[in-house]
Amino acid sequence: MKRASFDIVLRRGAADSVRRGHPWIFREAVRNMPANAAPGDQAVVRSEEGALIGHAIVDPKSPIVARVWTLGSREIDHALFSERIAVATALRAKLFSTDATTAYRLLNGEGDRAPGFVVDRYAHVAVLRVDGEAALARRDEFAASLWPVLQNIGVMSLAFRGRSDGKSGGELEALFGDKPPATIEVREHGVPFRVDLEKGQKTGAFLDQRENRRRVRALSKGERVLNLFSYAGGFSMSAALGGATHVTSVDVAAAAHATAQASFKLAGLDPSAHSFAAADAFAFLTKAKARGEKWGLIISDPPSFAPNEKSRERALSAYRSLHRACVAVLEPGGIFCASSCSSHVNAEDFLSTLDDEALQSSSLRLTEMHGQPADHPTLPNWPEGRYLKFAVLR
Ligand code: SAH
Repeated sequence: MKRASFDIVLRRGAADSVRRGHPWIFREAVRNMPANAAPGDQAVVRSEEGALIGHAIVDPKSPIVARVWTLGSREIDHALFSERIAVATALRAKLFSTDATTAYRLLNGEGDRAPGFVVDRYAHVAVLRVDGEAALARRDEFAASLWPVLQNIGVMSLAFRGRSDGKSGGELEALFGDKPPATIEVREHGVPFRVDLEKGQKTGAFLDQRENRRRVRALSKGERVLNLFSYAGGFSMSAALGGATHVTSVDVAAAAHATAQASFKLAGLDPSAHSFAAADAFAFLTKAKARGEKWGLIISDPPSFAPNEKSRERALSAYRSLHRACVAVLEPGGIFCASSCSSHVNAEDFLSTLDDEALQSSSLRLTEMHGQPADHPTLPNWPEGRYLKFAVLR
């Protein structure tokens, strides 16, 4: 399909930021968006002096009105899509050269210089997700570039999942190849687990916590473990496989516990030897404190408390109360793993919700701070991409 192409002119600060590799152009930064610009159109990005900066795909009604694909004269076309996909795939071929891990992010949007497009691989199924109307308008074109590459690496079906960022509820739609199954069995560092492709969150699993799950496995020996916001039980299984004496998983969604229990069985673990509580994590912690129950290792990985910049302050105070309630049920000498996936809360702000005053405790030290694994790359001048924080205190 032939698309319109026009020039957009950036104000000075924004031009500098884009030149340093920030892929987003915000509405305030553009001097002239044509009235008839449509989502998916290509724009030639220029400075106020008229110098060529690069090329972007526009989304005129969004606060992010354009996402930059190239710096310089290279235009955005089918060949560019194919190139970016090939580079992304080559990295994963190096990262996952054995079949110990069969679920990973094949393409991480902006971080792989393919703004707005995310592809997760679950064994022989790939799931595409888009962020924003522009990527949605280009979806079929992008999927057509993707499919031959996927076939080459043994993927048998390409499906499309919803379109927003991480929210559930999007339908699973087959784009190329076989109809995708509703659930699939994959492996992570040799551990089998079940993924609910049809009803699960994000594209089915939280692949970004892979290395942090492995860390929990190494910390769990001999511990009673509490996993809050456990979803499909990734951290719970890691703890049990790492030698935890007992694991309690807490999530409001009972359906997530069913998936977790199926995964326990696949991994040769007896789910009935552990507890699964369908409860609000805050209420659970209040009751546990009242009855004096404590754990030696606690993991807290809530959903994003800050969906936007406006809710940031409220989110910080929610993290603070959550963390204080966790530490109140931590055994002396115990380990606390606190995570956050909100891109509006940076690492230092997140750590402020774990300081001595927040925790009402001066006995814990920060021993580790982790983020996203290598299959979730970001760009040096794109701090928004580094959303995952995983702090270990002991
Ligand atoms: N730790 C998980 C991902 C957590 S996603 C993993 O590694 O895969 C967030 C989870 O929190 C969801 O499963 C959601 O059902 C649950 N949740 C949301 N609000 C909650 C609350 N108030 N109490 C307990 N669980 C909650």
